[in-house]
Amino acid sequence: MKIMKFGGTSVGKPERMFQVAELITRDVEPKIVVLSALSGTTNTLVSIGDALSKGNKQDARQIIEKLDAHYQVFINELLHSDDARIKARKLIAEHFEFLQIILRISFNDALSKDILAQGELMSTKLFSVYLEEKGISHELLPALEFMSIDANDEPHVLDIRVRLEQQLAKHPDKKIFVTQGYVCRNARGEVDNLKRGGSDYSASLIAAAVNASVCEIWTDIDGMHNNDPRIVNKTFPIEQLSFDEAAELAYFGAKILHPASIWPAQQFRIPVRLLNTMQPEAKGTLIVEEAGSQGIKAIAAKDGITEVRIKSSRMLLAYGFLRKIFEVFEKYRTPIDMITTSEVAVSLTIDSQQHLDQILRELEPFGEVEVTGGQAIIAIVGNELTQTPDILSRLFASLTPVEVRMVSYGGSMHNISILVPGGSKIQTLQLLNKGLFGLD
Ligand code: ADP
Ligand code: ASP
Ligand code: MG
Repeated sequence: MKIMKFGGTSVGKPERMFQVAELITRDVEPKIVVLSALSGTTNTLVSIGDALSKGNKQDARQIIEKLDAHYQVFINELLHSDDARIKARKLIAEHFEFLQIILRISFNDALSKDILAQGELMSTKLFSVYLEEKGISHELLPALEFMSIDANDEPHVLDIRVRLEQQLAKHPDKKIFVTQGYVCRNARGEVDNLKRGGSDYSASLIAAAVNASVCEIWTDIDGMHNNDPRIVNKTFPIEQLSFDEAAELAYFGAKILHPASIWPAQQFRIPVRLLNTMQPEAKGTLIVEEAGSQGIKAIAAKDGITEVRIKSSRMLLAYGFLRKIFEVFEKYRTPIDMITTSEVAVSLTIDSQQHLDQILRELEPFGEVEVTGGQAIIAIVGNELTQTPDILSRLFASLTPVEVRMVSYGGSMHNISILVPGGSKIQTLQLLNKGLFGLD
């Protein structure tokens, strides 16, 4: 059994869906096909929720009507027979009726999650009608019946496995299953999701749950590139990454993978392949246990970072100081990404400001606390970095014009992180592309 996940752009146009149908029928291995929403849909659903949360029903109604019109055109281009078109229109109408009902009732957070789930529910139904019209035998699996998160928003592979196996067992004769990425149920049984870009995470969790031969992530680029192609002109795809390297890149901002999407595959040793729907013969990137080569592989950047600096003379020769500080962050379930210390100060970074006020209040007794928002972490990722000659001299020589606020080196063999002002992110990525990869 293999997993094939197709992202928003891979299903965002009827002709892309034709191509996806071709790709999933190229071999006879049983497969679970995980689909995202059509590109743009989830952003539109977010804006519907935003409008409703501000009480702007008129705006929400207009956005819904425009989205509905988009789906009508899509159906006409995707399907050819009247029967299939009528069926698809009926299926899609149910979702737009649901959105219309939401306009009439009072809005809350749980409803916003219901709204966000509509994208994947619609894309999978449309694709299923298309496969049916083409005579391709398959089964649509409801992700809301097996994908779940606990009260801490964490998924558990073994729970997912039990329920997914029950779903699969209902269709022993089927070889192609289609299901929704991103959507899940939470601990209260409500519709929820795995956060933006979460279909990658769904695919990896499903791959782990069924012990898949491979988890293929099909997207709009030929694999993980050495730098962010949205920012830097000359980038190239990386043939092989270790799970550790891929996890660091995903966590530190390489948008091609959801930040948490590597751990399920890594834990269950499922190879991951990043492939290009538009260029299926391209090699892409293979992610396995072994790094394949030594040295720097890629750079990624994560925005919206807040730096918290705590200065205290009481830290001098004291023990237990760091523990007390970490406990504050733990209490508010706020992960720390980077940390550096001196004898009288500690600086750390967080990527969520959700509980910042409470955290700062509790840190006050420890000393002088300074906060700087709008920072960016640049992660330089590779294998055995600390043993790679020249790496630090090349790194810092490239960064002469940039204000480097923090450096983390040695925490792992796979990552050197630096903190720079958010406004220097683009320049830093460009300078490093030249300094570390020799590319302008
Ligand atoms: P999908 O809709 O298929 O999930 P995404 O837009 O989420 O696709 O991810 C693919 C995009 O990630 C690419 O089009 C590219 O712009 C962006 N990206 C950012 N960093 C990288 C990187 N290091 N390598 C490849 N793609 C990257
Ligand atoms: N449709 C969701 C999003 O846009 C999930 C995904 O595409 O992975 O975030
Ligand atoms: Mg994505």
